Amino acid sequence: MTTVIAIDGPAGSGKSSVSKQAARELGFGYLDTGAAYRALAWWSKSTGSEPDDLATRLDDFDYSISTNPDDFWVHVGSDDVTEAIRESAISEAVSDVARIPEVRTFMKQLTRGIIAAENRPGIVVEGRDITTVVAPDAQVRLLLTADEAVRIKRRSAELSVASQQITKQVTDRDASDLKVVDFITPAVGVELIDSTELDLPQTVQAVLSAVSRQLAI
Ligand code: C5P
Repeated sequence: MTTVIAIDGPAGSGKSSVSKQAARELGFGYLDTGAAYRALAWWSKSTGSEPDDLATRLDDFDYSISTNPDDFWVHVGSDDVTEAIRESAISEAVSDVARIPEVRTFMKQLTRGIIAAENRPGIVVEGRDITTVVAPDAQVRLLLTADEAVRIKRRSAELSVASQQITKQVTDRDASDLKVVDFITPAVGVELIDSTELDLPQTVQAVLSAVSRQLAI
């Protein structure tokens, strides 16, 4: 059976970089679930449809994603959207897509299918509702947080965009997303890792220690 390491957390918490590195060190696959929501927002824009019409068109969403932490790509049909889904216009549109109940049900099934198809011994899956909705039975469940000011600083450095714009993006997106799913309070059985005072290697180490501890129980 595939070992599932579920990691949730807010925007800029470092989930993606930390999960990718932890996956490499464990020899596991890596799944960025936010990429699917972003790709759906991209598809909605590129086909000129309103987010609210998406619920009726989900069967036509032709999505594929790499789970190789060393070769990451995201495709919609024949388009490679790996870079395009990181653009500000998508970050600003994605919450409106993610709040649609039919979209969330679709994404839950899509994610579970990708996890089931993984052929490495395990997979690190990161998002907002993995520990609670998508994989509540995961062998390891973690919530990765950091103070808001630190998250904004990290995001600004990552995207090299003015920090005022990033502040708005991070805080607006978290506020919208929190109306749909709680990724701030750890659910019962979910271990909280606060990376405010930690750099990337230290956070990866904290995650790997939690993984060893939880797998040993
Ligand atoms: O992780 P990332 O910031 O790329 O996620 C993009 C968006 O996808 C989030 O702002 C949220 O609206 C949505 N999302 C979600 N549930 C997940 C992962 C992402 O609703 N498990």
